[in-house]
Amino acid sequence: MNHRILTTLEKHAVRPTPMRMLVLEHFLQQRSAQSLAELEAAMPRADRITLYRTLKSFAEKGILHEVEDGTGATRYALCQDACAEGRHRDFHPHFHCTSCGQTVCLDAVHLSAPALPAGYQAAEVEMTVRGVCPGCAGG
Ligand SMILES: [Zn+2]
Ligand SMILES: [Zn+2]
Ligand SMILES: [Zn+2]
Repeated sequence: MNHRILTTLEKHAVRPTPMRMLVLEHFLQQRSAQSLAELEAAMPRADRITLYRTLKSFAEKGILHEVEDGTGATRYALCQDACAEGRHRDFHPHFHCTSCGQTVCLDAVHLSAPALPAGYQAAEVEMTVRGVCPGCAGG
């Protein structure tokens, strides 16, 4: 686990501070996307501003991507290996469970840009599917 944290930070040219390592470790342990408030709750001793800056810089460096799931709070999820600074490759939809409130990446589903009128260039495609996750549906 620790090895993966260091290699990920190194690959994205992020200096490994204790806080950055803690935040990345937290994301590696989660299956769902995390908001700043959720991160704060998980790390009560961490400073809110530092957490916020860590999320922002991870998003810039291609370690995390932002997820807008319609709840009003931006969430963050781990990127896949193809992402780098200023170049995200997270072309997958997100699933927001309206029962447990968790949002997950549907990495296996590839999202392509819709056919756009001439002159429009897509940089990002976002899709959030809302419904009930397997855990909630089965219970
Ligand atoms: Zn990404
Ligand atoms: Zn659920
Ligand atoms: Zn995602």
